[in-house]
Amino acid sequence: MRLLTHNLLQCHVKKCTTNNFPLNFAKVMTVEDREVEFHPQFIERMIPRLDFDALKAAMNQLNIMEEIPFDLNKEIESYTEDELKLLHGILMQKEIIDGEMVCKNCGHVYPIKDGIPNMLLEEDEVK
Ligand SMILES: [Zn+2]
Repeated sequence: MRLLTHNLLQCHVKKCTTNNFPLNFAKVMTVEDREVEFHPQFIERMIPRLDFDALKAAMNQLNIMEEIPFDLNKEIESYTEDELKLLHGILMQKEIIDGEMVCKNCGHVYPIKDGIPNMLLEEDEVK
């Protein structure tokens, strides 16, 4: 699972509607670096949809040490190619292989296995 995906996920347990984003990483076993082709326009399109506080929190929890030495909320036109590449490296190339995500509101655990987050709920947890 990519950090981009994590940034777009929230807890969807029934009645869990506040403080349900971002999901916290727990018991992370494996984060791998993947080679993914760089498409600057794709990253540019994603930037306005991202929550950068959540991204930084996730990087902290996963011990991803890359520094982001620029303001993430700046105008999209002012991003340089190098800055987009740095974000690409973090959002697209860090792959969480194994671990768990926990909702800080309701405590629901979403396992990640073989790089795939399991967002399925039990029947009584569904909205
Ligand atoms: Zn929840």
